[in-house]
Amino acid sequence: MKVKLLEPQSYCTGVKRALSLLDESLNNKKNNSPIYLIGKLIHNDIIMNKYKDMGVIIIDENNKLEEIKKIDKGTLIFQAHGTDDKIIEYAKNKGLNVIDATCPFVKIIHNRIKSYLKLNYDIIYVGKKNHAESMGVLAISPKIHFISDINDIEKLNISNNLIYSTCQTTLSTIDLADIFHALKEKYINIIIDNKICDATTKRQEAVINANFDLLIVVGDKFSSNSKRLYEIGKLKNDAIYINDLNELKKYDLTKYNDIAITSGASTPYYLVLEIYNYLIK
Ligand code: SF4
Repeated sequence: MKVKLLEPQSYCTGVKRALSLLDESLNNKKNNSPIYLIGKLIHNDIIMNKYKDMGVIIIDENNKLEEIKKIDKGTLIFQAHGTDDKIIEYAKNKGLNVIDATCPFVKIIHNRIKSYLKLNYDIIYVGKKNHAESMGVLAISPKIHFISDINDIEKLNISNNLIYSTCQTTLSTIDLADIFHALKEKYINIIIDNKICDATTKRQEAVINANFDLLIVVGDKFSSNSKRLYEIGKLKNDAIYINDLNELKKYDLTKYNDIAITSGASTPYYLVLEIYNYLIK
């Protein structure tokens, strides 16, 4: 059985940054001053549970504002996927120690949308329903048109000639190309701004270009970029999507000769290496 690790692996820059902000806060933590994560800092429960065991409190991302209202001291760290600015401002105004761990690539999208809104553009945002990153973007303005797949385009009814379209950072490059193409056909003057990040694009390209009879995707079930790797892998051949080695052990792999391993941008490398070492034994 041939086993190969596709590159890149390990945390992307946004995840590394978010985790180092959290580690720094833990190192500087004063007694009796709690640390709250507003939503899961990154989408990987194995890592989030380790921080919970260290005393970090994770606040439900769907109920942020209500939960923050109840907090009167401590450090609040906002998740890498981005958050409604108004909630961050509210926490700051309350006098809480606020750390915004939003990935800089997500921030660029927020800023660009705000600039185009000021210029009276209609905004079409392509994202996944209920994903933290989409929710953070949609909180910028109720005027943003949200679509999650190509079939949503027919429902758009925009008369403005000025239209700007951008997207979530972790979409499928294959799906997005089709969506942007269809938008361009409907609105010829539209400005298209593909913001799938480098970490996502490179991982997807590696899967598209690799040969395998089985793709193993290591990632959390809430990780958008891991899901996309699995979907792309399935278009080519068999694929399985697992959190860790324990889950892999439930599968019979004897029929496979050429296994490729990829992982999401929030998957720690040690989980991937455990799987690789188990398979090459
Ligand atoms: S996947 Fe991309 S956008 Fe998301 S945290 Fe990583 S670098 Fe940032």
